[in-house]
Amino acid sequence: MSSFNPIEFRKKFPLIQSLANSEQYIYFDNAATTQKFSSVIQLTSDFYAQQNANVHRGSHRLSAQATSSFEQARDIVRRFINARCVEEVIWTKGTTEAINLVARSFAEREVRSGDEIVVSAAEHHANIVCWQQLAQEKGARLVVLPVNQRGEIEQHQAEQLITSKCRLLAIHHVSNVVGKITDVKPLIDLAHRQGAKVLIDGAQAVAHIAVDVQQLDCDFYVFSGHKLFAPTGIGVLYGKKELLEAMRPYQFGGEMIKHVSFEQTTFNQLPFKFEPGTPNIAGALGLAEAIEQLLQYPDIDGYERSLTDYLYRALTTISGFTPIFDDKPDIPLLSFNIAGHHHQDVAAYLDSHHIAVRAGHHCAMPLLASKGLSGSLRVSLAPYNQIDEIDRLVAVLQDFVSGELPSGEHVVKGATSDKAENNTSSPIETSTVSEQQILTEFKAVKGWDQKHRLIMLLSKQLNRLDKQQRNKQTLIEGCESQAWLTVTQVNGHLFFSGDSEARLIRGLMVIIFSLFQGKTAAQIAGVDVDGFFQRIGLMQHLSPSRGNGVRAIVARIQLIASAAIDQ
Ligand code: PMP
Repeated sequence: MSSFNPIEFRKKFPLIQSLANSEQYIYFDNAATTQKFSSVIQLTSDFYAQQNANVHRGSHRLSAQATSSFEQARDIVRRFINARCVEEVIWTKGTTEAINLVARSFAEREVRSGDEIVVSAAEHHANIVCWQQLAQEKGARLVVLPVNQRGEIEQHQAEQLITSKCRLLAIHHVSNVVGKITDVKPLIDLAHRQGAKVLIDGAQAVAHIAVDVQQLDCDFYVFSGHKLFAPTGIGVLYGKKELLEAMRPYQFGGEMIKHVSFEQTTFNQLPFKFEPGTPNIAGALGLAEAIEQLLQYPDIDGYERSLTDYLYRALTTISGFTPIFDDKPDIPLLSFNIAGHHHQDVAAYLDSHHIAVRAGHHCAMPLLASKGLSGSLRVSLAPYNQIDEIDRLVAVLQDFVSGELPSGEHVVKGATSDKAENNTSSPIETSTVSEQQILTEFKAVKGWDQKHRLIMLLSKQLNRLDKQQRNKQTLIEGCESQAWLTVTQVNGHLFFSGDSEARLIRGLMVIIFSLFQGKTAAQIAGVDVDGFFQRIGLMQHLSPSRGNGVRAIVARIQLIASAAIDQ
């Protein structure tokens, strides 16, 4: 019987507590980043308030203390992954930087024309693009180990594909889409037999399983602090000492040198050779604190397993539930779609019901494309999550699939009056809800859940484009869910139509079109889109990094208008 107490554990995460208390908000996006222990937050803040000084530099007490804490933190990480010595633990910004470091400092020298770099089909972009670029530069080949229906790499295929041409095998320990623990040991041994070195991407593993780099015998192991209840901007590269010794520095500058003259520089010893400039000191201390906290819960595994079982069983009861891979995952992370619904629509619905999940390609486009998908939902839990939160998720999803918009319901009245306003009738069948109507409707609703519902209702106002109109020319780059835009010009007035796979985007298009429909290019140039989205309380949708692409749609409209002015 596990002695892990999830309620006590949960109390250590202030954001989880306050979100739950204030709006019963549920955080199920832990694979993107985990929430932070209060002691981690406290410690990083105390560092700045009480100890702040640079490390390895100053000849004063504060600096000596900071250096000592910083190096103790390194030793805590060393023990956590069972590295032989602290020289094998290099601080980085995170997994991505650690992989880039290995690519440039190790593989760039090792890989030659005709060699092979092997990755799997289930890698995160961070563990694909580096190797692809390097292979292209060197005339080497990127070989991809396929994964089966369960998302697993099969040993017999690995034996065929990892040959004596392989210089490096770079694979995940746990995939951020599949949620299965890859049995990396036989793959590492196989690669070694072929004379290759091995990098393991442990970004999704370290929070869920014990890692022993000596037992694995991998050459490099990389992970990020922020997925381990620690701050962002800190991560770790483990490398075997003899390899790190032989590698060239990745970046140059202060601290990584022994002696500099204008003629020549000699480099510092490990691990400092790979740590130029001032490091993320508070981040390193925070990571060590998170590890120490976590190690106080040896029984956490059993609880995670029960969360995983419950989550999987509960989601299979949802009609239309389509997991991307067969079988239950090994960690509480599940990628799936709901048949007949765009993943972005489901995620927005959940968000409007106070449940945060991830929707999109999860930085694993090739994996999703191999399944014929542009994206999926991903629910990922941490031990501060609870069974009753899974029950809430299931209940909200059940409401969603049973149809949250009663047919015929339509709150936007007089939806065609803007034709009169513009004094130019639309020559095309498109959305004609006016700016004023949008303002009035949004003024009447409160909170994101009601606004979301209104956007969904507005989506019904958009006439869909036919298949021919949805083509490469009309496709808008920058939207995570595909979206298309067409324009018709009549007497200098521009009329837009659009379409998207996601209802959310169709609703947002109706709002955007209300600002531009029937206007001249000069009028379009003067539209204050930000101001309008601010007024209706949807500013978050204009974030350029938000995959929904509202900004990209607006930019395309503005581009078309400026081209019309130039003509
Ligand atoms: N690999 C995997 C498996 C990941 O899940 C992630 C983060 N989603 C990364 C690499 C990249 O990690 P970071 O963004 O922290 O560098």
